[in-house]
Amino acid sequence: MSEEYESVCFMCQRPESKCKGMLRLSEGINVCTDCLQKTLDMAHDMNLPPEMLTGMPNMFMGQNAAPSDEAKKEKDEDKEEVLKGEVEEDSDTKDTPDEGDDDPADTGKKRLQGGFSNVSFINLNDLLGGMTGRQNAPKKKKKPLEPINIKDILPPHEIKKKLDEYVIGQEQAKKIISVAVYNHYKRVATNTMDEIEIEKSNILMIGPTGSGKTYLVKTLARLLDVPLAIADATSLTEAGYIGDDIESVVSKLLAAADNDVDRAERGIIFIDEIDKIARKKQQTSRDVSGESVQQGMLKLLEGAEIEVPVGANSKNAMVPLATVNTRNILFICGGAFPDLEEIIKQRLNKQTSIGYTADLKDKWDKEKNILSKVTVEDIKKFGMIPEFVGRLPIICTLEGLGKEMLVEILKEPKNAILKQYQKLLNLDEVDLKFTDDALEAIAEKALEKDTGARALRAIIEEFMLDIMYEIPKDKNIGTVTITREYIEGKGGPVIELRTVTPAPLLEARG
Ligand code: ADP
Repeated sequence: MSEEYESVCFMCQRPESKCKGMLRLSEGINVCTDCLQKTLDMAHDMNLPPEMLTGMPNMFMGQNAAPSDEAKKEKDEDKEEVLKGEVEEDSDTKDTPDEGDDDPADTGKKRLQGGFSNVSFINLNDLLGGMTGRQNAPKKKKKPLEPINIKDILPPHEIKKKLDEYVIGQEQAKKIISVAVYNHYKRVATNTMDEIEIEKSNILMIGPTGSGKTYLVKTLARLLDVPLAIADATSLTEAGYIGDDIESVVSKLLAAADNDVDRAERGIIFIDEIDKIARKKQQTSRDVSGESVQQGMLKLLEGAEIEVPVGANSKNAMVPLATVNTRNILFICGGAFPDLEEIIKQRLNKQTSIGYTADLKDKWDKEKNILSKVTVEDIKKFGMIPEFVGRLPIICTLEGLGKEMLVEILKEPKNAILKQYQKLLNLDEVDLKFTDDALEAIAEKALEKDTGARALRAIIEEFMLDIMYEIPKDKNIGTVTITREYIEGKGGPVIELRTVTPAPLLEARG
């Protein structure tokens, strides 16, 4: 067996390191000591034909059927032979149906005996017909990851500086996240369990669709070089119901870490659309995808040992399991939380209209960034259970993106969409330019769609298709300028030809 893998119990799928002992049956089938009885029962219930019965070392049998003293003695004497898989016939004790089958050449099919009268063993491999390839689980890497050195952790201002290169605006959110992440990895680095235990800095991120929640987390994971799993809370259901069970997010993270458990244990899990698992207001049936998912996530958020299938997202009989501890995994939950603004406004209006300093009743109705005033109470009122909110101690809000921010997003980030198209056309030696007016027109169109920055790419792709198709046809085109008229469908792009037709490189040099 490869050194990278450890044996997995055929019945319960736990790896060897999690079992009291592992019994090796024939050809790669292993059963843990806890499951031995189940295996025997299964074999017995199936009433297998004699040719499917095979010898099994006596040491296995002692655990499920108390042998007589005599048999025990006999067993000790026969130990050596037995370990070779050779079980001798004993006419006094046998009661399996293959009485006549004593062909010495067929030792593998011989019956069991020695006081275990009603126990028969099957050759599981026969039943499986070669399905034994996945009987191994990845071992925890022998050489563990180096512990994190506090000096190596990027300080918050540097994390933010790096985020600034990609994420436009959202200053407060970037600041909060930088500090939270810094503290989180400091906590991982110290790893102390003394009386001052640093609380886990799981984050709740609230902001409208397309404001950059996912993008922020993706950028963060990339610059920290940690594995990231992104899951959608809407697809999660309580274990046993249709949908992904909650622990599947951890198996996604393990996959993102190339099945390296140590790396996964330092990763980030982002759960999007968390607002969709709010407690339902009118409850008529069991809430398997709302409140109970919140309940189910509690131990995950806090830190628990989770057994996850390796290389698949559901536990089933043939998938090996690995154990991942979520104690040091940073959980970030994100959501748009529609109607939360109303809840905040109501609270604020109520506060300001009481007492001598009463303000105008609708003072807060006009406030633009009302989300930033959110409190834990508001989130609870929205439908998140207190224990759940309590496990996400860091709350950060993202603003809805305005026109200027959208224009900036188009051109400023390190991998801005415009820069990507410019690079593509540059390969054809064509300059791609956008007038400021054109950028504003794109931003205005995006605002109409009300999906934040997400709409930008779709809009650009729509008109860039024609450009990308037509331009390479004519080698004389040197510059293409996109104008507002072109975006609005009232005119074409401005095309300029090359002043000097580029000669082949060799001729020019020659
Ligand atoms: P959501 O908040 O719904 O998770 P996303 O993070 O998926 O939104 O944003 C969609 C896309 O919009 C991202 O892939 C990114 O390219 C762009 N984007 C959104 N917000 C920003 C931002 N603040 N700065 C730069 N790009 C952004």
